[in-house]
This record gives sequence, structure tokens and C-alpha cells, in this order.
Amino acid sequence: MGAGVVSADFAARPLPDRLCCVAPRRGWYYTQSFLSHKPLPVSGPEAKPIEAAIIPRSDHRISRANISDNALKVLYRLKNAGFEAYLVGGGVRDLSLGREPKDFDVATDAHPEEVKALFRNCRLIGRRFRLAHVHFGPEIIEVATFRALHDPSADEAPEGDAAAVAFEDGRIVRDNVYGTLEEDAFRRDFSVNALYYNIADFSIVDHVDGMADLERGLIRLIGDPGVRYREDPVRMLRAVRFAVKLGFRLEEETARPLPEMAPLLEQVPPARLFDEVLKLLLGGMGLETFEMLRHHGLFAVLFPQTEASLDRDEHGTALAFISRALDNTDRRIAEGKPVTPAFIFAALLWPVVREQMGELMDDEARSPNVAVQEAGREVHEAQLQRVTLPKRFGVPMREIWNLQPRLERRNRRALRLLSHPRFRAAYDFLLLRAEVHEVEQEAADWWTEAQRGEEGDGQPQSGDQAPPRRRRRRGRRSKSDTSG
Ligand code: ATP
Ligand code: MG
Repeated sequence: MGAGVVSADFAARPLPDRLCCVAPRRGWYYTQSFLSHKPLPVSGPEAKPIEAAIIPRSDHRISRANISDNALKVLYRLKNAGFEAYLVGGGVRDLSLGREPKDFDVATDAHPEEVKALFRNCRLIGRRFRLAHVHFGPEIIEVATFRALHDPSADEAPEGDAAAVAFEDGRIVRDNVYGTLEEDAFRRDFSVNALYYNIADFSIVDHVDGMADLERGLIRLIGDPGVRYREDPVRMLRAVRFAVKLGFRLEEETARPLPEMAPLLEQVPPARLFDEVLKLLLGGMGLETFEMLRHHGLFAVLFPQTEASLDRDEHGTALAFISRALDNTDRRIAEGKPVTPAFIFAALLWPVVREQMGELMDDEARSPNVAVQEAGREVHEAQLQRVTLPKRFGVPMREIWNLQPRLERRNRRALRLLSHPRFRAAYDFLLLRAEVHEVEQEAADWWTEAQRGEEGDGQPQSGDQAPPRRRRRRGRRSKSDTSG
């Protein structure tokens, strides 16, 4: 998904009354004098502007053969209609590194309505950040109009009915003033994300020294990190995501403010954080990302209960459990197997559930079955304050937890669980718990064996704790059922 999709989520949030608004007239852009009055910060508060570099086709790696046909169609149609058209963002960054981009984003001087007029298959989305989505079956090419720079300290009265740019405590809540490519480059997040591939001559336009950072393997926030993180705290998470994904380092000024500014993430709508957490932890490098998020104090804001639990975790069981779950998920992704947010959230919050369960059992004499349900409900509710978890994942997450004490029991009655829709996930969860010695390995083996019995190729077992072969799961009374 492109930035716009994220931005659009953000846009869906109603604007509160208490806003500091800057509403330049339509067509009004920050002028050169504004820019020279306030030098464009390239790296940190004292940095000086640099000359834009134009890298000709002969000096870079981007070839049209690696750009999707649909992205090329969009670029050419814009160009042929007399507009500027560039590939930008992850497409340019990843192709320059010889990687396959996740999606292709386009930047242009055409306004959203002008883009819409050019493409029948185009929809305008987003309020905070108006964008055009050009649909080609499952592929969406996101087309963004160049945005102008803005100054949160300026205090102009709104001119029209709605403010085009709005801030709330330094956070951008609307951003619809159009500008030039140069202005657009400085409002992007990281230098390696602000490179523009020009379809007119196949050159790359670099205003922010992004090519050098690609070579150095550096994630560097454009501008003053204090201002840029405040404008959009999600940039802190994106910094970590890109560093891990590309194997890059975080530049010093980009990394330093993270622990101190991390609490700004509390102001981000939980639904947007859910999208971001999925990209972070289900992107194939979840374990490394988790470690880096913790290192920079960001994980604690996303999962405060878990962080507190990890702090109390004397024997390292909780950390080992979460790390294994994430590693497992990374491996499944590498093998092309399906993964679900329900499992990963279940794992991340399990140390908290387990602690609270223990207290309920010790202090309130609750049975394990009741304790797990009560603890699960509380932990789940508290987590929703920070990061949304849609019901379709929240319900199975709780089921995975609720099945744990029942799986530990391993008796004939428990065998009914084999047909539970969440059995497989709960069993995988139990295996992880056994790996960190939270339950006996025998419990996990018992269920492994029980499933073999279920498939009909298990060996007959003896003894109390042996899983007997199941006869039949469903339709036992149905005479017509001969499938077994
Ligand atoms: P990928 O698609 O591989 O996750 P990407 O860099 O393309 O990486 P997108 O979320 O698709 O990321 O965003 C496209 C581009 O939009 C980014 O490269 C960046 O230039 C800009 N962008 C996205 N989000 C932000 C943001 N929060 N602040 C500033 N610029 C952003
Ligand atoms: Mg992208």
C-alpha cells in the first residue's frame, strides 16, 4: 500500500475544533523569499540547502523494464497531457537498490481533479491528503500532486470554507496545498524516499542527497527531526521499518530523538497504528523490527503492557517466547505460508495474560479456564486504547488464549478440541510455549500424537496420558456419512 492509503486513514479522523490553521489561497505557494529566509534544512537543524542533482539515465540503475506496465501507462499519459510525471518513493528507492518494489507511487504537477479527468479507472481519496488512485485490477497506482512546504508557526486566517493545511499541536491533520517538485521533495520523510524518476528523460532528480544515502546505507529524516516527528509521529516507526527492511543504519540525528519523542505516538489514531504494526511485524522481518523498536523506546508506546511485562521478566521466558513467535512468523512468510495478526497479537500479549491469569488463580482462586478468559478480556481491552485490533482478529486471538489451559489438560474429553476452528493456531501456540519450557514438552507431543491418530496413521498408545485414536469428528450419527 502506498503512503496515501496510510494518509487516507489518517484523513478519516474528524477534525477537532481546536486547530491552528494555515490556509493559503489556492495557487498560493511559499515563494523563493520564504525559502531563502528559512534555509531548507537537509540534515538536522543547522544543515544548509544543497543543489539539486540530476542523475542522467547512464548513471543510475532504474530501467523501465522493471517498472510495472500500469505505472508506466500512468506516467506516460500524464506526460502526454502536458504534465510533469515522476516515479517517486519506494519504487525509485527499491529499484535503485536492485530490489523489487512493493508498489509504485507517482508524483505530478497535475491536480487530483486533472488526474481524474485523464483516467476512467481513477478514484479520488483522502481528505487530509487528497490523492488519485488509478485502478488496474488488483494493482493501484497512487498519484499524488506535488505538495507545498508549510510553516506550522504561520497563523493565517482560512481563506475559503475549509483550510487546506491544518495543524494540531504541531501535527499535520490536513495537507492540501499544491506546490513544486522541490517543495514536494522536502516534505517527504526520508532522503532515500525523496528521489524522483522523470519519465520525460529517465533521469533521477535528487534535492536531498538521497542518492548518497542510498550508497551509504543511511535512513535520514529530511529536515529538523523535532519538527518532522511532531508533524507525523508515524515517521518514527517508518524510520525503523525502512532501516530493517533495507539493512540500513539510522543516521544519528534521525535516531537520537526517538526515545524522547516516542510518546507522541499516543496521539496517533489506533487504527492507523494497527496498519503500521502489521507492516512492521508482518513484513517478513518481524523479529529484527521488534528488537529495534524496543531499542529506540517505540515498542513500549505500541504495547505498553507487554513492555512492562518484559521488564518484570526475570527468567527471560517472555522475551524468548515473543522472539520465537516472531521468528516463526518470519519463517512462515519466507516459505509463503499464511500468517495472521491474531496469532502475532496473541503472542505479543501472552506474557501479560499469563501474569494476570496467575494472579487471578492465586488471589481469587479462579480456575485456569475462567482466569484465562478474564485476564484475556482485560488485556485485550487495555491494548485497544493504543492499537486497534479489528474484531475478526481479536476474537480468534482470545480463542487461542482460551484454548491453552484446555490443551494442557490432555484427556479424552479434550480431544474434542481437535475440531475446534482455532485448534491449529492454539496448538502452534502451545508448541512455542513448550519450546520456552512454559509447559511440558509432553503436552505438546501428546497433541502432535493425537493429530496423527486423527489422521489414522498414529500408533496405538497405552497409559493414562496417551492420546487415543479419535473415532470420528462429525456426523457420528449420520448413516449416510461414510467419509469418516
Ligand atoms: P513501501 O511502499 O515499500 O512501504 P514507500 O517508501 O513507497 O515504501 P509508502 O508508504 O508507499 O512508502 O509512501 C510512498 C512515499 O510517500 C514515501 O516514499 C515517502 O516519500 C512519502 N511518505 C509516505 N508517508 C510519509 C509520511 N508519513 N511523511 C512524509 N512522507 C511520507
Ligand atoms: Mg510505496
